[in-house]
Amino acid sequence: MTQKTKKIDVLIIGASASGLMCAIEAGKRGRRVVVLDHANKAGKKILMSGGGRCNFTNMDIDASNFISHNKHFCKSALSRYTQWDFIAMVNDYQIPYHERDLGKLFCDDSAKDILNMLLEECSKANVTIRLGSKIDAVTRSEERSFIVNSSQGDFQADSLVIACGGLSIPKMCASPLGYKVAEQFEHKIWPTRPGLVPFTLQPHDKDKLEVLSGISVESDVRSDRAEFNKENILFTHRGLSGPAILQISSYWKAGEAININLLPEFSVVDTLKARQEKQPNIKLKTLLTEWLPKRLVTVLFDDFFLDKPLQELSNVRIKEIAEQCHHWQIKPNGTEGYRTAEVTLGGVDCDELSSKTMESKKVKGLYFIGEVVDVTGWLGGYNFQWAWSSGWCAGQVV
Ligand SMILES: Cc1cc2nc3c(=O)[nH]c(=O)nc-3n(C[C@H](O)[C@H](O)[C@H](O)COP(=O)(O)OP(=O)(O)OC[C@H]3O[C@@H](n4cnc5c(N)ncnc54)[C@H](O)[C@@H]3O)c2cc1C
Repeated sequence: MTQKTKKIDVLIIGASASGLMCAIEAGKRGRRVVVLDHANKAGKKILMSGGGRCNFTNMDIDASNFISHNKHFCKSALSRYTQWDFIAMVNDYQIPYHERDLGKLFCDDSAKDILNMLLEECSKANVTIRLGSKIDAVTRSEERSFIVNSSQGDFQADSLVIACGGLSIPKMCASPLGYKVAEQFEHKIWPTRPGLVPFTLQPHDKDKLEVLSGISVESDVRSDRAEFNKENILFTHRGLSGPAILQISSYWKAGEAININLLPEFSVVDTLKARQEKQPNIKLKTLLTEWLPKRLVTVLFDDFFLDKPLQELSNVRIKEIAEQCHHWQIKPNGTEGYRTAEVTLGGVDCDELSSKTMESKKVKGLYFIGEVVDVTGWLGGYNFQWAWSSGWCAGQVV
C-alpha cells in the first residue's frame, strides 16, 4: 500500500446494472463507495438493451426463469428485492413504461431513463464513479482488506464487489476480469458460453433458407431440455434468430437438433382432411399460404406437391406435410457467439456464495453480483431483475 492509496469502505468494479444498484444501497447506508469501470460511459448495456428501450423487468419473475447449476440460489435475492421494488423506483421517477407480451416491461421512451435514474440515485447516495479506470491488480492486504491498483489510482476497501458482467459483446467493454478475480481467490467457475444468441446454419440449410431473411413466424420451439411456446422465430441472412430462438439457444448443446412447430395453434392433419372434403380442388399451396408466409411454404415443400389439389393427397402425404409443419427439425451449425450474445451462461459457482448477501464463503468481504455469477435469466427482463436483486442484496451488507 502506498501513501497515496485511497481508503474507502466499498470498492465496486463495474458501473452497470448490478454495480450501480449495489452502490446506491451501500451509499444510502453511509458507506464510502467508489465504483470503477474501464468503459468511458456507465451502463452501456443498459443503454443498448431492449432495442434501446430497456426491458427492465418482468411482471412474472420466478426461479424457473433462470438457468444455473444451483437452481435454488437465485430465490432468496429475487424474493428480497422483487420486480415490484424496482417498478416502484421507476414509478417514483415517473418514467413512462408499458407491458409487452409475456409480462415484459419496457420504457416508452428510452433506456436512458433507467440509467439516468440509477445515476441520480448514486449521486444522492454520494457514490463516486470513476470511468476509464483500467484495473491493474487486485490483492488482499495483511489487514484483510482489498487493494485495487488502477489507472485512476490505488484503493483500499474492506468490501470488494465484482460486478463486471460476463463475456457478451466485447465491443461494449465486456471482459473476463470477474472470472479472473474469482479464480485468483480460488473460486470455482462453471464453464462459460454465449446465451440468448442467434444460431448459424449448416451450409446446405443456409443456402436454402437465406431467401427467407426478414420473415418471422410465431412458433413453439423445443430442444431436449426446454420448450418455448408461441414466440417468434426470425430468419436472418446469417441463420435463425427471434425471441423463441434466443430462448432455446441458452439450453442448446453443439450437435443437437431443435424442433420447431410452425403451426402450434391447430392440427394440420385434421384441418387438411376437413378442407379436403369441403374443397377437394383447392391446391395445397393455396391452403398452406393461408397459414404460413408464401416464401417459407415454397422453401419447405416441393413444388410438385404444392401444385396438387387436396383430393390428390394421400393420408401418408398429409401426415408428411403435417410433420414438416409441426416438427420441423433443424440442426444449427453453431451460434453467433459472444459477438452478439445477450448474456453469458456459467460463471462463478453459486455454492461458494451466500445466496442472501452474495458474499464469498471463502473470502470475507468479497462479493460477486449480476451476470458474472452462474445465474442466467431468460429473455424478458429477467437478467436485469437478477442484476437489481443481487446488487441490492450485496448493497445491504457491504
Ligand atoms: C444487446 C443486449 C440487450 C440486452 N437486453 C436486455 C433486456 O432488455 N433486458 C434484460 O433483462 N437484459 C438484457 N440484456 C442482458 C443485460 O444487459 C445483462 O444481463 C446485465 O447488464 C448484466 O448486468 P451486470 O451489471 O452484471 O453486467 P454488465 O451490465 O455487463 O456491466 C459490467 C460492467 O463492468 C465493466 N467492466 C467489465 N470488465 C471490466 C474491467 N476489466 N475493468 C473495469 N470494468 C469492467 C463494463 O464496462 C460494464 O460497465 C441485454 C444484453 C445485451 C448485450
